[in-house]
This record gives sequence, C-alpha cells and structure tokens, in this order.
Amino acid sequence: MRVKPALALELRRLIGAEHVLDAPAASSPYNSDCSFRRGTVGHAHAVALPGSAAEVAAVLRWCYQHDVPLVPRGGGTGLTGGAVPTHGGVVVAMERLRGVRELDPALWRLFVEAGVSTSHVQRLARENGLFFGPDPGAAEQSQIGGNVATNAGGPHALKHGVTGAWVAGLEVALAPGEVVQLGGWAGKDVAGYDLKSLLVGSEGTLGLITAVRLRLLPAPELALALVAFMETREQGCAAIEALLAAGMQPSVLDFMDAHTLRIVAGAYPGEPPPPQAGFALICEVDGSREHALAQREELLELLGAPPRAAGGAAAAQALAVHEPADARALWRWRDGVNPAVRAERGEKVSEDVVFPVERLSQGLERFDAIARAHGLRSCAWGHGGEGNVHATVLVDPASAAELDAAEAVGEELFALVAELGGSVAGEHGVGWHKRGRLAAQWPAPALDLHERLKRAFDPKGLLNPETKLARYPARSLH
Ligand SMILES: Cc1cc2nc3c(=O)[nH]c(=O)nc-3n(C[C@H](O)[C@H](O)[C@H](O)COP(=O)(O)OP(=O)(O)OC[C@H]3O[C@@H](n4cnc5c(N)ncnc54)[C@H](O)[C@@H]3O)c2cc1C
Repeated sequence: MRVKPALALELRRLIGAEHVLDAPAASSPYNSDCSFRRGTVGHAHAVALPGSAAEVAAVLRWCYQHDVPLVPRGGGTGLTGGAVPTHGGVVVAMERLRGVRELDPALWRLFVEAGVSTSHVQRLARENGLFFGPDPGAAEQSQIGGNVATNAGGPHALKHGVTGAWVAGLEVALAPGEVVQLGGWAGKDVAGYDLKSLLVGSEGTLGLITAVRLRLLPAPELALALVAFMETREQGCAAIEALLAAGMQPSVLDFMDAHTLRIVAGAYPGEPPPPQAGFALICEVDGSREHALAQREELLELLGAPPRAAGGAAAAQALAVHEPADARALWRWRDGVNPAVRAERGEKVSEDVVFPVERLSQGLERFDAIARAHGLRSCAWGHGGEGNVHATVLVDPASAAELDAAEAVGEELFALVAELGGSVAGEHGVGWHKRGRLAAQWPAPALDLHERLKRAFDPKGLLNPETKLARYPARSLH
C-alpha cells in the first residue's frame, strides 16, 4: 500500500470524514505549538480528531500497521515543540475527548477525558468544594492530557505537587493499538510496577493518554499573598532557604530577579517597588483561616527580621500584603511577566531549568554573566522554592547574530545546570528543542534504561519520534 495517498482515506474510514484534516498548511496550528517563535514547524500528513478512546486506539493501530509516525496533541501550549509533527505522519488531536466520566466530591475524585482543559478541571474542582493544585499558565487552552504528558507545574506546585502527584490512574492507548487502564481508585496499590507514573511526563513518546483519574483535595479555606522586595539576589535566595528551614510550607514561593523586576515594576498592583529592589519574592500561604493567618504572620516576621537575627531570613526592603480581594490583580501581574519581557526587545529566548535551591543564587549569577559575555541582556523569574528558573535572554528577532548568541548562551546554561546538579527541564518538558539534553544530566546506564523502556512501549519508534530521547532511532514520513 502506498501510505500517503491512503492515509487520510483510511483515517476517515476509522473515525469519520469530518474528523480528519488532510495535510494541513505549514501555517496551521496543528503544525506548531507555543514554541513557534523558535521556528519549529512540522509537516503533518493528516490530523485525526478521534472522539473516543477506542477511536484513538484504532488510529494508533492503523499507523502502527503501516509504519506511520504519530504525534499526540493537547492544547498546543507546550513551549518545547513536543506536539510539533517534525517527522510528518499523523497528529492525533485530543480536543474532542471532553467527557467528564466521574465526579465524586465526597471521595475527592474526578475522572475526565484527556481533552478537558486545565481551567475546566480547576472549575469543576472549585464548584464542588475541591481543589486541583497544578496551575500552568495558558490554562484555558492546555488540556489535562497535555498536563500529564509534560507533568506540568505552575506556581502552586510547590506545596501541592506537580500534575503527576494528583494522578491516581490513566487510561492510555498503547502500541500496537489497545486501550489499557493503568492505576485506579485503590487507596493503596503496590501490586505492580507504577506504570501510570512512567506515562506521566512521557511527552507522547510512550502512549496516548485518553483519560485521567485525578485525586483532588478539599479546597483551602483561605489563601493569602504577600510580596517581599529584597535589596539583593543573595538576600532573596537566602530568604527562600530560611523560610524552608523554618518549616514553612508556602503554597507559592515565586521570584523575580532585578532585571525582570525593572521590566514589570511599573505594572505592580500596589505601592511601587523600591527603586533599588534587586529581587522580589511572591509568597502565598493557604489552609484553614487560622492556619493561613498564622502562616502569614510568621512570613511577615521572618521576612521582616534583620539579617542573621535569630530565625530571620534577611530583611526585606518592603513587604506588601495582598488581601484576598486584590489577589487577582497580583496574579495578573505575575502572568504578565512573559509578554512584558518579550516586548522589551521584540523577542526572548527562555529556557526552563532547575538549580538545587541552595545553589539558586549562584546559578542566577552565573547565568547572568554568561548572557553578558555573549553581549545579551538577561532576566530570570520562576518558582524559587523549587529552584525552577525561566532563564531568559532578550533578543531582536531580526538579528541573526543575537539569535546565534542566544543559542550559545543556552549551551553554556545547560552545562552550568549539569555542573550544579540541577535539571535541564523543570516543567515545560524536553520536547523537540531540548532533545538530547538528557545526556548532560543522566549517566549513560540511566539513559540506556530510558531507551529500553521506550523500545518496550514503542518498538517501532513511531510515537512522537525524536522527542525527549534524541538517540532513539527516529521514523520519518516524507
Ligand atoms: C503562556 C504560557 C504559560 C505556561 N506556564 C506554564 C507553567 O507555569 N508551568 C508549566 O508546567 N507549563 C507551563 N506552560 C507550558 C504548557 O502550557 C504546559 O506544559 C501544558 O501542560 C501543555 O499542555 P497542552 O495540552 O497544551 O499540551 P501540548 O502542547 O499539546 O503537548 C505537550 C506534549 O504533551 C504531549 N501530549 C499532549 N497531549 C497528550 C496526550 N493526551 N497523550 C499523550 N501525550 C500528549 C504532546 O505530544 C507534547 O509532547 C506554559 C505555556 C504557555 C504558553
């Protein structure tokens, strides 16, 4: 059979003519994701929009029989090119899988299909007195299946865990084309290998997630935010360590470095930050009313204490309390960092990396020096409690020299991450852009194990080829 002419025809037979798109144009959203500014555009031969797990498995089965690569796609908000069909083949878009199969507030359970948006999951939880912690940006567009596939985080992952921590079970279409339930509602289950967790963060390389069982939490009664403006990066990072050492469990402990702060200070929803502020800590505590209020008092005490005073973190230059009524404005300000930074010089190149929290200050200082050595302005912000940094350089998109310099900065940054014992990917995945970077972080036997696992799940190498694992033989369809 000549595969390409038959491809769309066969898919139409399997899932209905109106649910298959023929070779979309390069400009189609199905050929890119939110990393499109880095120039990665795919060339899907067809897009399949299955309406059930059985249809996902049927598409997988047909592709597996005919050696056609498949790329699972959620909301396309990924920042590393993971949903881009770089090797052609079929994009399997999950947007029609929107069913809520089970919602049991008394047992804190939610079982939803993979295409349900992150914001809808959050809404369903909230409306039923429950809480879903992961809060990656772009929540209206991203899907729960994509969140699981990238093990997405967000500011609130510090206390409540990244997406994987909330997953009780997964329904997955596995090669060569069958639907399998992994995990489930059992409160404890050590009977088998933890296969569902292998799928968490697998970025579409091991199977296609069709539905997700989530174990939610009762909603915290109160969440209280405050911002501490510190004079220096060292003080800010010392404060993060001191808060953790004091046994505090903030739900958010985000940071902005001096360069980021300079860009967004004008939009801060409160008293303007002190002009010399060199670091900002955005903190939130949650829980019962009494617990949240007590935690806020403790935070104010620790952050307000002079440096090296007993239990003191490092005195903040200014402490701004945000009452619940104005918290929305604070989070809008935080969400606005990305576009504001991009607008500075027309474009930015951002890498999502992690430094061990006790090396955060050193990592930030050295990243800034690397960028300066290459003639670029940098800025950094992220989830300080986890050492998770969105390390960014500002570039003019029309300047090839600056874009090349940004790539060189990235190379040195990844070497620095490995030297300091961090991770090349904190929450955005490895995707296409960072394929091969695992080798900087993992020893050869562990990499080999990754490849053997990939082979066990996907012996033909058709599932999202060359994403995450660059060394695994890639299949292309041209
Ligand atoms: C403005 C903005 C802010 C962001 N902020 C954060 C943040 O704070 N924290 C964070 O962690 N991320 C963040 N992200 C990144 C991104 O939103 C998340 O990684 C999100 O979880 C991706 O979900 P998606 O449905 O869009 O997946 P996609 O982009 O469609 O896909 C991502 C990867 O998952 C795979 N995949 C998708 N669905 C499935 C499925 N059903 N089965 C198997 N594989 C699948 C794809 O093949 C791809 O490899 C942000 C992105 C943007 C644009």
